[in-house]
Amino acid sequence: MPERPGSQRASEKKLETPQEDDASRESIKGDTVIHVIDDIRQIRKDFYCKQSQLLEHMKYFEACLAGVSPDDEVEISVHCDIKVFEWLVEYMDGSRQVSSLEAKDVVAILISADFLQMQALVEQCLEAMYNSLTEILALPLDLGCLPERLVASLASQVKVAELEKLQDDHDRLLSRLYAHKLLALLSLEQNVLFCCSRCQRLFTADECLYQHCAETTGMELSTTKSVPALLQHSADATWDVGEFLHHLRERHSWPQLFWKTWARLQRFQCNLCQMTFCGLELNRCHFHPPLVGQESVAIQDPNHGGGEMRQHEPKLSSIEEEVAIETLRRHQDEICKDCESLLFAPVLNSKGLQVDAKGEEEPERVLEIRARYCCEPPPEHSATAAPSTQASQVQTMHDNANQCSF
Ligand SMILES: [Zn+2]
Ligand SMILES: [Zn+2]
Repeated sequence: MPERPGSQRASEKKLETPQEDDASRESIKGDTVIHVIDDIRQIRKDFYCKQSQLLEHMKYFEACLAGVSPDDEVEISVHCDIKVFEWLVEYMDGSRQVSSLEAKDVVAILISADFLQMQALVEQCLEAMYNSLTEILALPLDLGCLPERLVASLASQVKVAELEKLQDDHDRLLSRLYAHKLLALLSLEQNVLFCCSRCQRLFTADECLYQHCAETTGMELSTTKSVPALLQHSADATWDVGEFLHHLRERHSWPQLFWKTWARLQRFQCNLCQMTFCGLELNRCHFHPPLVGQESVAIQDPNHGGGEMRQHEPKLSSIEEEVAIETLRRHQDEICKDCESLLFAPVLNSKGLQVDAKGEEEPERVLEIRARYCCEPPPEHSATAAPSTQASQVQTMHDNANQCSF
C-alpha cells in the first residue's frame, strides 16, 4: 500500500521525497511544491507551481491552500501518473491543448482533470471524448474507472441515432451509456410512465387522455380523440418505475431495455386502423382477412379480440417521425420481441387486477400522481480486457487520492 498522502507546511516535517531537481527547488522558493508519487512506476517527481495558478485551475487544492499566504512554501503530495500530471502542469502553463491530445490519452487526462476539479479542462476532454468515441471504444482502455457523472455528461451528448452506431465489443462503456440514456429519457416530463391499477398497462399523462382502459366498461374506441375520464387508466400510486426497470434488468441488457423503452415512448397514428400505437406495437395492426371480392377490414378495438395482425401503416408528418420509424424498423425484431414486458407491468400478488375505487371516483387526479424515479445505479462494470497501463495508473491515483485528507 502506498503511504497515505497529505500536505505539510514547509516548516513541518517534510515527506520523503526524491532528491532530483534540488537545484531547481532553490530557484522557485515560495512556490507550492507538489510531490507526485507514481505508484505504478514506483517513482516520484516534484513539481513547482504558483499558488495562484493552482487555485485558478485545480480547485481540488483550494482546501489545503486555504489561509496560506502566497509567500509561504507549501508541500503537497499526491499519487498520480507522472506523465499525466506533467501534461496538466503544461496545460496550466498554456503549452498544451486538448486538441493536440491523442484519443488514447483523452480518458486519462479527463479522469485526472475531473479529480483535480479542472472544470474547463473536463468539459474540453468530454467534448474530445465524444468526438473520438468510436475510436476510444475500440482501444484497450479500462473505462470502468470513469466516474458516473462523467459517463452521464458524455451520454447527454450522444444522440439516439449515434448510439445505435457505437460498437463496444468488450462493453467497456456502452452499457453504462445506455443506462444513462434510459434514465435521461424517462426523466423527461412527457415520458413519465404510470401504471394502470386496473389493467396494468403503462401509460403517459398524454396517453391517458385518449387511451381508454381495457378494464373499464363501455369500451370506447381508443383513438386520438380524448376519452371520458371515467374510462381512462387509473394510475397506481404505489407503482415504481425504478423497481419495474430493476425487475426487467433480469431479462434485458441495458441496450435492450433502452430500445424497448424508447420504442414504448414513440407514438404514431395508423392510416389503416386509425389507432394511435406505440413503437412496440408496430406489428400489431389488427384486421379481419378479406372475404372473397372484398377488402380487409381494420379492427379498431383490438381489446375485442379476433382477426389477424399486420404492420401498422404510420402517418408520418415530421422528419422526427420518419427517423424514428426508420430506427424502429431497423431494430424491429429485437425491439418488438417480448414487447409485453414494456407494455404491461407484471401483476403483483398484493395488487392483482382490482379496480382502484379512488381512481374511478376522481380520475382527474391521475395526472397529479407522479411516478417516483429511483432507477438503480448505472450498471456494474468490470474491466473485461487488459487495461492500459496509463488508465490503470490514473485509477490508482483516483483511488488513492480519494483517501487524501489535506
Ligand atoms: Zn387501464
Ligand atoms: Zn393499424
